[in-house]
Amino acid sequence: MTGVTLAGAIAGAAYIVAALLFIMSLAGLSRQERARGGVLYGIVGMIVALAATVWLMLEDAWGQPTAVLGLTLLIVAMIIGAAIGLWRAATVKMTGMPELIALFHSFVGLAAVLVGWNGALYTEGIAPDLLGVHHAEVFIGVFIGAVTFTGSIVAYLKLSAKISSRPLMLPGKNVLNVGALVVFVALTVWYVITPELWLLVVVTALALALGWHLVASIGGGDMPVVISMLNSYSGWAAAAAGFLLNNDLLIVTGALVGSSGAYLSYIMCKAMNRSFISVIAGGFGIEAPRADGDEPVGEHHETDAAAVARLLEAASTVVITPGYGMAVAQAQHGVADLARHLRERGIEVRFGIHPVAGRLPGHMNVLLAEAKVPYDIVLEMDEINDDFAHTDVVLVIGANDTVNPAAAEDPGSPIAGMPVLRVWEAAHVVVFKRSMASGYAGVANPLFYRDNAQMLFGDAKERVEDILRAL
Ligand code: NDP
Repeated sequence: MTGVTLAGAIAGAAYIVAALLFIMSLAGLSRQERARGGVLYGIVGMIVALAATVWLMLEDAWGQPTAVLGLTLLIVAMIIGAAIGLWRAATVKMTGMPELIALFHSFVGLAAVLVGWNGALYTEGIAPDLLGVHHAEVFIGVFIGAVTFTGSIVAYLKLSAKISSRPLMLPGKNVLNVGALVVFVALTVWYVITPELWLLVVVTALALALGWHLVASIGGGDMPVVISMLNSYSGWAAAAAGFLLNNDLLIVTGALVGSSGAYLSYIMCKAMNRSFISVIAGGFGIEAPRADGDEPVGEHHETDAAAVARLLEAASTVVITPGYGMAVAQAQHGVADLARHLRERGIEVRFGIHPVAGRLPGHMNVLLAEAKVPYDIVLEMDEINDDFAHTDVVLVIGANDTVNPAAAEDPGSPIAGMPVLRVWEAAHVVVFKRSMASGYAGVANPLFYRDNAQMLFGDAKERVEDILRAL
C-alpha cells in the first residue's frame, strides 16, 4: 500500500472503515434478531474494501503501459465472479449451503497458494534484510492455503454425499499427521536459509496431502466442527496472503475470520463433548467406530396423521425437535402453523434445538425465524433437555442423530458422548421421516423401536399438512 499520497491515505481510511464494518457484521451475526443488519454491514464493508482496492491499484499503475490491461482484467474478473456468486446465492437450497461454504473455503485456500507461489517467484523490490521474513511468509501461506484447499474439497465431497462420511482410518494416522507437521517446520527453516523452488513444491504437495487426510479422518458426526475449523483455516490463509500482498485489510479480515472460526469450532466441540485438539488433529485419539449401519434393532410402531392429531389434542405440553429433514422437506411453515394452532387451543408448545441440527450452525433457528416462530418458544438443547420427562408429546420433525439415545447410552457407538435431545423421556414421541434409514452419521437409531415412539412415514411437510387438516 502506498499510504503517502492523498489517494493512498483515502484508501487506507476506507480500509479502516471496511474493517470496522466487518467487526460490526460479526457482532450483528451473533444474535438472530440483529443478523440481517450484520449481513448488511458485511455487504457494505466488502463494497468499500473492493472500491478502495481498485482505487489503490489504479493509483499504483497509473501512467504505466500495463495499467489499462490490468484494469480491464480486474473488471472482467469482478464481473465474472459477481455473476457466478449471485447465480449460486440465488439458486442454492438452504440444505446445500454447507457444501457451498466448503467450496468457498477451498477457493480461499487455493488463492492463498497462488499468492504464495507468486510471492516466491517475484521477489524484486523486497529489502535484502527482509527476504528471510518474506520466504517464511510464502512458505506458511502456501502450507495453510494448501491444507485448506484439499481439506475443504474433502468436506465438500462428504457433505454432498459424493464420498462416505465415515472416517478414514489409515494405520498410524496420528504419526502421519504429526510427522507432516514436523517435516513442514524443518522445510520452513531450510527454505528461509536457502529458498530453492523444489522445497516449495514439496511443501505444497505435503500440505495438499495433509489437508486431505485431516478431514478424511474425521467422522460424519464431527463434520460441523470440521466446517467451522476450515472456515478458520481459510481466514488464516487469507491473512497470510495479506502479509504477502502487503494488504492491511486482508490481514485484519483474515484474522477476524480465523479467530472467530476457531472460537466457533471450540464452542461446537464443547457442545458436542468432543476434544478440540483431537478434532483439529484429524480425529487424534479417536478409535475406529464399530461398523454400525441401518440394521433394525427391534419392532417399530407406525402411526398416521389422524392418530397424531388426536394425540396432540389430548396433550397439554408439546415439544417439537426439528432436524435436517425439516429443511429438506421445507416443512418449517407448516410446522409453525401447527405450533400456532396448538397454542391457540391452550397447549404449551416449545421447540428444542440441538446445536448441530441440520447442516449449518443455527440452521433450524434460521428456518423457524423465516416461518415467524416467536423466539421465546425456541429453546437451546440445554434449556429444554430436563423438561422432556414432563412432556406429553414430542414431535421429531426430520431429526435423527440429534435425538439418538445411542449417543447417551451406548459407549461403543460412533456418536457416543455427543449430547443429544433426550426426547425418549417424554410420554409419546412421534418421528416424522420417510423410512427407517439412519441419519448423517450413519448410525442406527434405537429411538424408533422404543415402546413410546411412533413412526409417521412420508415427507415431513405433507404429513404436517395432513395433521393440520385433521385437527
Ligand atoms: P440427520 O441428518 O441425522 O437426519 C435427518 C433425517 O431426516 C434423516 O434420517 C432422514 O430420514 C430425514 N428426512 C430427510 N428428508 C426428509 C423429508 N423430506 N421428510 C421427512 N424426513 C426427512 O439430522 P439431524 O438434524 O438430527 O442431525 C444433523 C447431523 O448432521 C448430525 O450428525 C450433525 O453432526 C451433522 N452435521 C451438522 C452440521 C451443522 O453444522 N449443523 C454440519 C455438517 C453435518 P429419511 O431419509 O428416512 O426420511
